[in-house]
Amino acid sequence: RIVLGIESSCDETGAGLVVGGRLLGQAVASSMDEHARFGGVVPEIAARAHVQALAPVVRQALADAELGMGDIGAVAVTTGPGLSGTLQVGLSGAKALAYALGVPLYGVHHLAGHVAADTLEHGPLPNPCVVLIVSGGHTSLLLVRDLARDAVTHLGDTLDDAAGECFDKVARVFGLPYPGGPAIDRAAREGNPRAVAFPRPMTGPRDDPYTFSFSGLKTAAARWAERHQSRPLPVSDGAAALQEAIADVLTRKAVAACGAHEVRTLVVVGGVAANSRVRALAEERCRAAGITLRVPPPRLCTDNGAMIAAVGDLLVRAGAEPAPLDVSIDPSAPLEYAALHPVATP
Ligand code: ATP
Ligand code: MG
Ligand code: FE
Repeated sequence: RIVLGIESSCDETGAGLVVGGRLLGQAVASSMDEHARFGGVVPEIAARAHVQALAPVVRQALADAELGMGDIGAVAVTTGPGLSGTLQVGLSGAKALAYALGVPLYGVHHLAGHVAADTLEHGPLPNPCVVLIVSGGHTSLLLVRDLARDAVTHLGDTLDDAAGECFDKVARVFGLPYPGGPAIDRAAREGNPRAVAFPRPMTGPRDDPYTFSFSGLKTAAARWAERHQSRPLPVSDGAAALQEAIADVLTRKAVAACGAHEVRTLVVVGGVAANSRVRALAEERCRAAGITLRVPPPRLCTDNGAMIAAVGDLLVRAGAEPAPLDVSIDPSAPLEYAALHPVATP
């Protein structure tokens, strides 16, 4: 069965087609620009943008795959976590399609999607592996012994801001355009990462090795920006130093988790996995430690429909029970190990 995946948890409307672990085609539309002047996603605006974009994006994904509506064998859709208004648009569209086509519907956890995105590029996840999820809303380390058998340990999370949130908030302080992550990544290219000595939160000998904290880094960056009030702010230096601090903490802890659990594969997923310095430093440190690094290509790191189709495809192949047509959204679906295992009805 060819699975159509639909994603609408935030400001990206995504559609993707997957069969047997293979990506056939995809399309993404974003309402990002409409939120720029507000400095963050406005749920009402995002929801309306999904209403407009959903059908065209599904058509575009089908065209990309050179397929027609009749080729869709199942529909998978993000049911959470995310913004309730935007999730409802995607779920309603997915239900309508599944019902009209007479094919099964599967509810998918958004973060399971981020993890599964990598399988489209690099094949099934090896057992065991350590997964670092770094996105706009999450910064989590997972020890995956066997995804298919629910053998997943949640090693740690952030105490406050997610890494992506830190990028976005500091970019705002630096006067960089929204969304902040890509803007900092670009600005950092011309900067000196050693120009500012930003802290490395939660890396002390008494700190939990797998717990993160990024709000202090945000404050440190704001303070640094304040001190430069009188002259033009060397934004590229600030961006490079912030990016270095975030990449350092993320990769240090992820590689340490592999070492402590004798795991040979690290998988880094989520929007922040698109960051050039995070990718480069992870590669460098994994190579030094003899660990295989897996990171999806940047377009599969940020929100997209292909990753949701990838989970749907796993569900179909596992013979999972489809979701009933009265399935609802779960905006605050928790990140527990079960959430990463393909679930038919969250
Ligand atoms: P979640 O997946 O936790 O629900 P989300 O879906 O909003 O949150 P993603 O789409 O996975 O998050 O990622 C978006 C985040 O990734 C934003 O914070 C954005 O700034 C960040 N991001 C995207 N590209 C880059 C980059 N090149 N460098 C740093 N951060 C980036
Ligand atoms: Mg987004
Ligand atoms: Fe996401």
